[in-house]
Amino acid sequence: MAKVVVIGGGIAGLTAATTLASRLRDKVEVIVLTKEPYYVSGPTRPLILTDEERFERIIRGYGYVGSLGIKVVYGAVSSIDPGNRVVKYVESPPYGTAGGALSYDYLIVAPGVVFDGSGITGYGKWWWVNSNVYDPGMLTELKSKLWSINQGTVLIYAPKAPYRCAPAPTETALLAHTVLKHRGVRDRVRIIHVDANDKTQPPIIADKVKELYDKAGIELVTNQDITELSSNEVVTRSGERYKFDVLAMLEPNRAPSFIRDAGLGDNWFEVRSPTDLRHVKYDDVLAAGDAAKLPYPKNQEIAFESTLFAVNKILEDLGVGDRVNVQYAFVGWAYLGNIEGRLETLSLQFGFDYTQQTPKPIKDPEPKREYTVQKDRWMQTYLSKLFGY
Ligand SMILES: Cc1cc2nc3c(=O)[nH]c(=O)nc-3n(C[C@H](O)[C@H](O)[C@H](O)COP(=O)(O)OP(=O)(O)OC[C@H]3O[C@@H](n4cnc5c(N)ncnc54)[C@H](O)[C@@H]3O)c2cc1C
Repeated sequence: MAKVVVIGGGIAGLTAATTLASRLRDKVEVIVLTKEPYYVSGPTRPLILTDEERFERIIRGYGYVGSLGIKVVYGAVSSIDPGNRVVKYVESPPYGTAGGALSYDYLIVAPGVVFDGSGITGYGKWWWVNSNVYDPGMLTELKSKLWSINQGTVLIYAPKAPYRCAPAPTETALLAHTVLKHRGVRDRVRIIHVDANDKTQPPIIADKVKELYDKAGIELVTNQDITELSSNEVVTRSGERYKFDVLAMLEPNRAPSFIRDAGLGDNWFEVRSPTDLRHVKYDDVLAAGDAAKLPYPKNQEIAFESTLFAVNKILEDLGVGDRVNVQYAFVGWAYLGNIEGRLETLSLQFGFDYTQQTPKPIKDPEPKREYTVQKDRWMQTYLSKLFGY
């Protein structure tokens, strides 16, 4: 029986585990090694800011996964030894074991991303002034700041792409506008979005976002990456200074350092190609999801599709006839908030079909309330499929 160890109990990790367990039943033992006994889903999380989403709707546990015969081990991976096919992990309280090692026949590496501010001067001292929509704790802090600030400046920052969820910084800016307008203090609070890229991400909707920013009075500065942070100011590489009262900065993203330490990649896990997710050197170590170096945005659909390509390689290797049908394409929705300050967010629909020689973009330029509802349904469907409810 082949033993498959999956690092990460998120979108990619659970897609891999549940697909392999259902396809191969008695032919594989699947172990998911993940650091927490719960999962907090991302896409609808920014709506917590406007009270349109609640944590209880987006947090899940692993009971259903266990009921499928998949073993879930709670622990934080500390190292991979690909030469000897061993993963080591340390205790990750409050659940789990005192740490240990797991051997494998196949390893799927799907731990997502790390937000790393260590390259920003002053971050080590002033990290705590930052809050954003990416981390649940920080999100509640950002919410509390937006619902109490009466004057000053809110500064939002997007680092150089690729980073997790391209539109999240613009969503943050527009949802901040919505909250402040709703509270009647918007004319006393500046919102500045500093972006390290030449356009807000994803570029396909940058024109629409800019149009809305102009209407909402959100100031946009592009091509400026933050290199310094202090208690109330950031400095960019070219020396521009921006004061803030509330900072919502997304730190530069990378894969967890155990990937680099194992020689599996530098910032991201080096795969052979977008459809062959094996490591360039090791046939039995594959990546999936945001940690993989892919020429696509880091989002949930791409995480899901890359995982199915990884699963197909294992099925092929094990001589299983049927492959999972999969292609790279996605439709996504970016929250635009509500310019009038009603707590009823509108969204834009956009997407890419990467099966075409020249990737085909799709965009409906009309913001719609119905797209916000559609995103919620899409997210809840993912959660039901992977977590059973
Ligand atoms: C605020 C926010 C908004 C988003 N919006 C959208 C959106 O609108 N549309 C969209 O398509 N995508 C969106 N995303 C992105 C989407 O959630 C990710 O692309 C997707 O979850 C990636 O899947 P993954 O499996 O690679 O990572 P994750 O789903 O993050 O799973 C990683 C798992 O690995 C575990 N792990 C990490 N390190 C270790 C370790 N050392 N040891 C053991 N386990 C570990 C984690 O605990 C987690 O369970 C958003 C994300 C966030 C945070």
